[in-house]
Amino acid sequence: MTETPTLPQLTPKFGMPPKHFADLSSDERIEAVKSLGLPKFRADQIARHYYGKFEADPLTMTDLPAAQREKVKDALFPTLLTPVRRVETDEGDTTKTLWRLHDGILLESVLMRYKDRATLCISSQAGCGMACPFCATGQGGLDRNLSTAEIVDQVRAAAAMMQEEGSRLSNIVFMGMGEPLANYKRVVNAVRQITSPAPQGFGISQRNVTVSTVGLAPQIRMLADEGISCTLAVSLHTPDDDLRDTLVPMNNRFSVQDVLEAARYYADTTGRRVSIEYALIRDINDHDFRADMLGRKLHQALGPLVHVNLIPLNPTPGSKWDASPKARQDEFVRRVIAQGVTCTVRDTKGQEIAAACGQLAAEGE
Ligand code: SF4
Repeated sequence: MTETPTLPQLTPKFGMPPKHFADLSSDERIEAVKSLGLPKFRADQIARHYYGKFEADPLTMTDLPAAQREKVKDALFPTLLTPVRRVETDEGDTTKTLWRLHDGILLESVLMRYKDRATLCISSQAGCGMACPFCATGQGGLDRNLSTAEIVDQVRAAAAMMQEEGSRLSNIVFMGMGEPLANYKRVVNAVRQITSPAPQGFGISQRNVTVSTVGLAPQIRMLADEGISCTLAVSLHTPDDDLRDTLVPMNNRFSVQDVLEAARYYADTTGRRVSIEYALIRDINDHDFRADMLGRKLHQALGPLVHVNLIPLNPTPGSKWDASPKARQDEFVRRVIAQGVTCTVRDTKGQEIAAACGQLAAEGE
């Protein structure tokens, strides 16, 4: 009797994508085009296409010599994001795009069109290692960091979509999957490309870019010293360590006090008001005493340099976590404001993003 050979286990192999033009520094781009036999000014020309016209396919860059376009495409423009599905909600104001990365990972970015702006919510990691119990992404763990170009190309694709509509992409929020400051170097690199004027970047105003974090205090200070004055959004979710140790497990390393001190440093260094994200969860963190404590602590730590953004939790199917009733939400806002801190509830389009970060691509295909 012949033995049936054992088949090797098929395990997903996640890995960084091939290098892309948007992963390279200016010098590296020049070196890259020279190594393809092109003069160095071509690097600048390609950048004008990518950042100025949002084109990612060198075959359409007609001012490049025809014989070279294929070479440039193969060497510098691997396909990073393949659209799998596009869903319109809010009567067409919101577009969710589900992307497949080169290693099969699924990723979502959400474009929200408002009267006065168009905001794109992007991801910085595939999955997330922060394990917040109310977040679907957190339950799956971290698959891998996104490359700089995978982050930047989410922006390029949305900017191209807005351009086709005769409008422009004005705001970026890093509130999709992942903890941006856990992928620090690539995220900072991406922020520089998002905010630099063309041909070095998309020229989106620094104040219109929001980087969120659960509170990696050392990285918040590093970010403050980068010379970029983007908005910092801290997902606090409760003002007391006892509950925060559970809701945001990273609190076991950096306490509420550590996080607020780092946030103060950020506000002082950049002159930017810090946004505090608070996902309001029924009977978990929506009590009067927590609203009072939140307002008091923030007023003490940050004075006028803070704003609270309440997010009605969008529960995931089967989850025990639920949004607070409207009356509770209103009272919470009233109490925070009574402590001298501004507080608003996130626009309902934010519901598309679910929590402060994460919960994207959780539905799969
Ligand atoms: S809420 Fe944000 S930081 Fe927490 S697990 Fe989800 S994606 Fe990660």
